[in-house]
Amino acid sequence: MDLSRQECIKLLKDEENQKDLFRKADDIRKQFVGDEVHLRGLIEFSNICRNNCLYCGIRRGNKIVTRYHMSEEELIETAKKAAGIGFKTIVMQSGEDLYYDCDRMCRIIEAIKKFDVAITLSIGERTYNEYKAWRNAGADRYLMRIETTDKDLYHKLDPLMSWQHRFDCLMMIKELGYELGSGIMVGLPEQSIESIADDLLFLKNIGVDMAGIGPFIPHPQTPLASEQGGSLNLALRTMAVMRILMNDINIPATTAMESLHPKGRIMALQAGANVVMPNVTEGEYRRFYELYPGKICVNDTPIHCRSCIGMKIEAIGRKIGTGFGGHKK
Ligand code: SAH
Repeated sequence: MDLSRQECIKLLKDEENQKDLFRKADDIRKQFVGDEVHLRGLIEFSNICRNNCLYCGIRRGNKIVTRYHMSEEELIETAKKAAGIGFKTIVMQSGEDLYYDCDRMCRIIEAIKKFDVAITLSIGERTYNEYKAWRNAGADRYLMRIETTDKDLYHKLDPLMSWQHRFDCLMMIKELGYELGSGIMVGLPEQSIESIADDLLFLKNIGVDMAGIGPFIPHPQTPLASEQGGSLNLALRTMAVMRILMNDINIPATTAMESLHPKGRIMALQAGANVVMPNVTEGEYRRFYELYPGKICVNDTPIHCRSCIGMKIEAIGRKIGTGFGGHKK
């Protein structure tokens, strides 16, 4: 459905009537993508990053965090276990860690493809040839948030990165036939409601297949430690407006939402979301992959996270998706 910029702004600002917005987004979700909630097993396989984004807990400049990356075998084994407990999509996410070069990623993708799962990569900005090789090796989807479409703000948040380059990467990914996931954070310092409306229209305009929206949560070991951060309500409204703008895409109930409220993901599932990405990372790595503080489930196991979220989803009358759960247009 089309909404004007003004209409988006009005909905984003209207905290008083947000229940109506959530109900509308929930109705659209039900009508267009049904009651199935698709689960994606998220593997946080490396927190080593060449970038220095001001908001991020695993930025290069954070000298306190314990750095790790899984070995190739460990990553494949983690994916195998996740497939074994029923995940039909594996999301591999990391900092921009060049240890995972083109060939290593190709080998990993080929190995994991044998477990009959869809593969989503979320490993940041790389070259066209790498994206192409990984697509050919069997990767199905790519997830990379634009973070904000306010270019000045983007460049303040990382003076060494280029908004245009990130955008160009998204276009390459789309052209190569990946399902494209992108998204934003809400509540960034100096980010206005008007700018969030622009973000949503941008995501619609580039035709994302998936849009992830989460509140910014200040991390104590970053330059933005004393910022306020985003509110759950604004993040939920943003997500609900996204559902109204793009009726049939996949929209996750994000982990950052649950980190602000114990029912954050369930609230999201009842305000337009149809996807959850439970963590299937093992052991201490969960704790070390600290993008923001207060991250949930850091002491849990994959099987625990799978059954915990499964029960919560069923308790609100929804079902766990049985297929790969790609974007059905
Ligand atoms: N290197 C990959 C993965 C980044 S981490 C990439 O560039 O795509 C995944 C997402 O976590 C980021 O895109 C960002 O939107 C989010 N994130 C990072 N720091 C955060 C924070 N402090 N609060 C909330 N979300 C954060």
